[in-house]
Amino acid sequence: MGILEVKNVSKSFGGLKALRDVNLSVAEHSVHAIIGPNGAGKSTLLNVLVGKLVPDTGSVMFDGQSLLGRKPYEINQMGISRVFQTPEIFGDLTVIENVMIPCFAKRDGVFRMHAFETVENEAEIVAQAEAALADVGMLERRDMHAAALSRGDKRRLELAMCLVQEPRLLLLDEPTAGMARADTNRTIELLRQIHAKRDITMVIIEHDMHVVFSLAQRITVLAQGAPLVEDTPENIKGHPKVREAYLGE
Ligand code: ADP
Ligand code: MG
Repeated sequence: MGILEVKNVSKSFGGLKALRDVNLSVAEHSVHAIIGPNGAGKSTLLNVLVGKLVPDTGSVMFDGQSLLGRKPYEINQMGISRVFQTPEIFGDLTVIENVMIPCFAKRDGVFRMHAFETVENEAEIVAQAEAALADVGMLERRDMHAAALSRGDKRRLELAMCLVQEPRLLLLDEPTAGMARADTNRTIELLRQIHAKRDITMVIIEHDMHVVFSLAQRITVLAQGAPLVEDTPENIKGHPKVREAYLGE
């Protein structure tokens, strides 16, 4: 049994079958990548996992508990965090304040944008936020305005905002999209270190095969809403069906 078990999940938008009988088993502590061409259903699947979309059929189990019928914040509290394709950060706040917000939310069970203004010297929360920033290599930027960060740093800040919640399952939607090669490599290295250091499982949706093959232990290929094949990176690389569906050969 994996920490995440998706069974026969289907989802239609009107007449369009975005997901058809999707099965996915993610082993605890692994890095599992989901790849596939545009429109394959990757984001739809992620939205089902975080409770933003309800599937028409099928089941989704996390650590033995069903996620179906739960609100996104409940799923988040169960230990699932998501890094969005476009960073969702607060530009007016400093870097450390951005990371402290989810800490307060976790502690208080409620999201308060200005929580940090009312409680001075929350030493423990500051320490947690600093540790998360250190994990993404951004501690020296702690007092910068988030709006002034580079694109890559904004994405790494959002990663820190997830890590500070100490998720058991981290979902990453194209974590290196829009990054130049050097920045991509830095993010790969950071994710590798985070995975080695923290007690965490990662599911990565990614277009960039360099990222996928650098990080993933298992790869699921989605095509037209259905899993085409699931295997190790070595086997995926040479798989004729994958080359045909994904690389257009
Ligand atoms: P991917 O992330 O793999 O590129 P998506 O999951 O975004 O694919 O989309 C799968 C299919 O479902 C696409 O054909 C897309 O146009 C369609 N789709 C996704 N979300 C919606 C929606 N909210 N309403 C209608 N169609 C959608
Ligand atoms: Mg997508």
